[in-house]
Amino acid sequence: EQRLNIHLASAKSSATYRVMDRVAARRAAGAKIISLCAGEPDFDTPTHIRAAAISAINNGHTRYTQVAGIRALREAIADKFRRENGLDFDWQDTIVCSGGKQVIFNALAATLNQGDEVIVPAPYWVSYPEIVQLCGAQSVIVPCGSETSFKLTPQALVAAITPRTRWLILNSPSNPTGAVYSHEELAALAEVLLANPHVLVLSDDIYEHLIFDDARFYTIAQVEPRLEERTLTMNGVSKAYAMTGWRIGFATGPRWLLEAMEKLQGQQTSGACSISQHAALAALTGPQDFIHETRAVFEGRRNMMVQMLNDTPGLSCTVPGGAFYAFASCEGMLGRTTPAGTLLATDEDVANALLDEANVAVVPGSAFGLAPYLRIAYALDNDSLKQACEAIGRFSHSLR
Ligand code: PLP
Repeated sequence: EQRLNIHLASAKSSATYRVMDRVAARRAAGAKIISLCAGEPDFDTPTHIRAAAISAINNGHTRYTQVAGIRALREAIADKFRRENGLDFDWQDTIVCSGGKQVIFNALAATLNQGDEVIVPAPYWVSYPEIVQLCGAQSVIVPCGSETSFKLTPQALVAAITPRTRWLILNSPSNPTGAVYSHEELAALAEVLLANPHVLVLSDDIYEHLIFDDARFYTIAQVEPRLEERTLTMNGVSKAYAMTGWRIGFATGPRWLLEAMEKLQGQQTSGACSISQHAALAALTGPQDFIHETRAVFEGRRNMMVQMLNDTPGLSCTVPGGAFYAFASCEGMLGRTTPAGTLLATDEDVANALLDEANVAVVPGSAFGLAPYLRIAYALDNDSLKQACEAIGRFSHSLR
């Protein structure tokens, strides 16, 4: 009998990975697919960061590290939070994990019990509800549609909080919508949270540096310092420094929580990869030009994508303020039929038909908890993006 853990058995595998599996299958069959599914920058890790990793290997930094991370990196992380986010924590108030994803997993696994609720604004990053599920707790999904620019309002937050609420998860800039919360918007949410002292806040700031139009990034513990004692501010090197494969994420927050996460991590991975920690140290303390250069590239791509998508009949998209995703409504394509005879009833049908008939891969909004939309990642060179949009345009014109 193949009996699984009950929480794992009812969790879903990642929806983005499922689409990527379909892409791999079509490619193996010889199709030339342009994939707009990727959740990672298309750039290489900067040279000085790679060099630091090679030095780490050659200098013998190849052993177990302290569970919460090497001191130099934790000091650099405390500096980063001070410098960029106005958060004044000691290096002891930080933790390094194997990716931002493990920060989230550790935090939720360390604190959630059966019956606890986690407020997850939708559309959400696919992993939040699944991690909550794996921890045996309950996600409370709060729909945040285009009328509120895909953002949680204080009214919606008040309505979602119950005595069982343990966490609120915030993510700005957002995956999948690119929405960015302003200082005022965070302050309004903070006011609700101040009135509900039993709620912890997980601020997922992984896209912090991918923010456009000269907007400023804010994180909620900075906007409302009285929330510092119950906010876990999470970040990492994956998106900012094109280091997704290095698996380094980090956080700052209340010491009791960090200690619990460290205890869990001590029985799980024993800590993040020593070599990657040295690479992340170089990323945080070295030149920051890469961040500014890639931001400009992404902003140019965003402008092109938004225009091309809005020129496509059946699609419409607002201008995302950050990350590298456009979240386009495909409502105008529903009810139509493709040349191959498929009736498009849902956004999943649209995404599947785009893959099968236009050779372009995108992820349906329903995977992120809001339909009918398509998440279109533009972490790809301009030519490929243009070709993909043209293929989507031809597909749209061919619908009956
Ligand atoms: N948070 C969000 C919103 C993400 O989109 C991702 C990656 O896709 C992560 C966290 C995790 O990033 P990593 O585990 O690579 O640090």
